[in-house]
Amino acid sequence: MGFEAQAIKCPKCEDIVYSRHRHDLRWCSCNSCYIDGGFDYTRVGFIMAIDPKDIKSITLQFDIPKEDLYNDYKSGANKHGIIKGKPETLDEALTLMGVYQHLIKKES
Ligand SMILES: [Zn+2]
Repeated sequence: MGFEAQAIKCPKCEDIVYSRHRHDLRWCSCNSCYIDGGFDYTRVGFIMAIDPKDIKSITLQFDIPKEDLYNDYKSGANKHGIIKGKPETLDEALTLMGVYQHLIKKES
């Protein structure tokens, strides 16, 4: 039950982004870094101004059906894939997003 997705946290805008499908290349709001590959592989890229050591790796845990993420990507609804940066707390961010039922499991 449930599944996990790899995500990254942008050191600049603090968005948490993850890829919903192998072709879903997802940039953060400030276009400093991206993650790609969905659940098949993980590829992370960043602009030259970003030190890759500052990009935090995060595992998100989902309680929603996995196909919801694919449908979100495929339909262009884009309710998922990004958690906007700089909320007061993560709980607040997740509450604001509404649709999110995932938790940050670990941060490194
Ligand atoms: Zn950013």
